[in-house]
Amino acid sequence: MARYTGPVCKLCRREGEKLFLKGERCSSPKCPFEREHDYPPGEHGRTARFRRRRQSDYSRQLREKQKVRRIYGVLERQFRRYFREAERRSGLTGENLLILLESRLDNVIYLLGFADSRPQARQLVMHGHIVVNGRRTNIPSYVVRPQDVITVQDGSRKNVYFKERAERLDEGSVPGWLSLDAKKMAALVLNLPTRDDITTKLDERLIVEYYSR
Ligand code: SF4
Repeated sequence: MARYTGPVCKLCRREGEKLFLKGERCSSPKCPFEREHDYPPGEHGRTARFRRRRQSDYSRQLREKQKVRRIYGVLERQFRRYFREAERRSGLTGENLLILLESRLDNVIYLLGFADSRPQARQLVMHGHIVVNGRRTNIPSYVVRPQDVITVQDGSRKNVYFKERAERLDEGSVPGWLSLDAKKMAALVLNLPTRDDITTKLDERLIVEYYSR
């Protein structure tokens, strides 16, 4: 299961906005965006910040596609597969794409508050801490379905990490398509997310345009 292993803050700096890939650090003064280190990476990044360049349509489409890919931690090939699947489904391709990404198990673990970031959630899944419908599931790209029950492995619940987590879980902050029982660290998928459930500011139309060139 390939994934990006390079410097993470560089990705945010490239997109010119916070993508929240590092959990607590993203809200701390250590974040480059809080220290005016938010210029694009590379030799000329610092000067590029001051240069106002008109972005071409292609550039805007590419940047939006890269941003979404990076937020959800998906590599290009897999992202293309998601796009083809979104095209096959009825409805708007862009919305279908975001709904597919939002329904990934690692994203759901993040939304439930079991992890501070999507990369951390991905690690929890890959290390076998998560159980879906009674079966240990270590595939972060697993797409959840309505009535799926998501819990933490019995053994893992005794870990200091999960014990502390359980105390911080907030049932009220979970999106409406999920239901969380914080005491049991168990969640139920009520239905698939809709476009309105996705609160991150994304423009999926640009991604559709990018792949329709
Ligand atoms: Fe992005 Fe978080 Fe790094 Fe800030 S700390 S640049 S939000 S990954």
